[in-house]
Amino acid sequence: MLEGRAVGRLSQTSHSFAFHTAGMLHTRSSRTRLLAGLTVLAIVANACGDGETTVASIESDTATSNTATPDTATPDTSASETAAEQTGDEASVRTAVVQSAQWADNVTITIDGTTVRFESDGLPSHDYLDVYLGDGRDGKFVAGGVDSYNASFSFPLVPTMAASPSETGNGAIGVAISGAVFFDPYEGDGSATIANDDNETIEGIPFIDACGGHPLPNGRSYHYHGIPFCITDSVDAAGEHSVLIGYLFDGYPIYGPQDTGGDEPSDLDACLGHTGPTPEFGEDTYHYHVSANANYISECLSGIS
Ligand SMILES: [Zn+2]
Ligand SMILES: [Zn+2]
Repeated sequence: MLEGRAVGRLSQTSHSFAFHTAGMLHTRSSRTRLLAGLTVLAIVANACGDGETTVASIESDTATSNTATPDTATPDTSASETAAEQTGDEASVRTAVVQSAQWADNVTITIDGTTVRFESDGLPSHDYLDVYLGDGRDGKFVAGGVDSYNASFSFPLVPTMAASPSETGNGAIGVAISGAVFFDPYEGDGSATIANDDNETIEGIPFIDACGGHPLPNGRSYHYHGIPFCITDSVDAAGEHSVLIGYLFDGYPIYGPQDTGGDEPSDLDACLGHTGPTPEFGEDTYHYHVSANANYISECLSGIS
């Protein structure tokens, strides 16, 4: 699709539990799967040399909640369950979802208590270009393609809905499974441009590439302003709800443009979020979508970040 060069990804994959758990996820029950994932998580924490105590406490919470609730995918909401147990259930479910996301090999995810930490080299796991149109798009170019950087971001494991949405600013608003980041739909050039609408190509060199992304003028912070086509094309199936492609910094997950049935959702709020079932949660949960219409990607966060 792109006249890009192959991406030179880091080969450091030993800390990626998505990589380690991939083979287990198709053969075990949801409960066993969750516990297996947490065991791997503990191993990862040991390998990283931190978070061991915290991870152990999550595992302990899970064991407790499993005793009370046979199916962790359907939390027990009976009156006898304490608020602490409910919180533990949600943390367990969200831990399993974070683990099972299709993170690229250059991504390291660490869950430290109530926080998820994302670390990567910032390079997308799909192709990118050697040259992009630069800021202003008036003949200036970002030569040298995309540079790596220390992409380190954190978001809450269990999100909390805010009383009112908060506007996004310039810069990253979330992380993608590709190792790159999401920006909101606007460019940071002081005007009210929406990046995807404002895309241009000069002498075959685009501002935004066919994957829906581009770097900052310094070559770093490769980011998407809308649908990351090179991710969604590889993970989504026609006629089905999109698959989780990342998280915004309030902790709510973000998906491609397909709702249940495969069409775009018709009930998105101002932040391009809605509550409904997703493949990973299997039940109603608040989540964001990117969109071919609407405003492409959220320009506000619904949760507390
Ligand atoms: Zn941009
Ligand atoms: Zn949805």
